Amino acid sequence: MRTHILFDLDGTMLPMDTEAFLGAYLQLLGKTFADVAPPDVFARHVMESSMATIRDQSAELTNKEKFMKRFIPRVGRPEEELLPRFDKFYLDQFPYLARYSKPSPLARVLAQSALAKGYEIVMATNPVFPRQAVLERMKWADLDDLPWRHITSYEETRFCKPSPRYFAEIMDTLGTHPSRCLHVGNDMEEDFAAVKARLPVVMVSDFLINRENRPLTDCLYHGTLSDVTQWFADSQ
Ligand SMILES: [Mg+2]
Repeated sequence: MRTHILFDLDGTMLPMDTEAFLGAYLQLLGKTFADVAPPDVFARHVMESSMATIRDQSAELTNKEKFMKRFIPRVGRPEEELLPRFDKFYLDQFPYLARYSKPSPLARVLAQSALAKGYEIVMATNPVFPRQAVLERMKWADLDDLPWRHITSYEETRFCKPSPRYFAEIMDTLGTHPSRCLHVGNDMEEDFAAVKARLPVVMVSDFLINRENRPLTDCLYHGTLSDVTQWFADSQ
């Protein structure tokens, strides 16, 4: 019997072109920290430190620690100076990026349908962002006030998608088994990696990312957010 439904956010529960959003985010971040480094250089440091964090499979550090370990030496400013400025950025500037998302009321319908059927819901967004940035995007999607059992953010998570260990870590936190879960995502690399952790995967195709053209038929189900919402209401 299934007990937990894991949802990806960007491009799944928050319809958006993730590439366009990331570009706008890095530009805004670079502009905000223009006194620290030229905007494109600052953005490159963020990107490269994030990519290295995603590849880092050690279990000792959180993603935040993995990120800072690489980022701080690159920019040459103390963490104590930059952290409060990052916090302020996510509170004051980040909300302007809402216009790069295309929220759908169906996301809330799907999450509420899961709750009504007795499942616990998990926000399984790739934890390369601080919690504040995750909560802000959940607000855009009109999902922030729902009773989420767990939300992955970079402060308390040690792995990232597409590592299967990201999903295994969630299983540990929830104290459940992959066969009792379902992961809903939009990326045939990042989200489909859940299969390697033995979770069944449902793919939302509106903003599908499928760089290697993997067959969608390997998923338990695939379709638009509308299709998935209907399928979930009927069958799960
Ligand atoms: Mg996504």
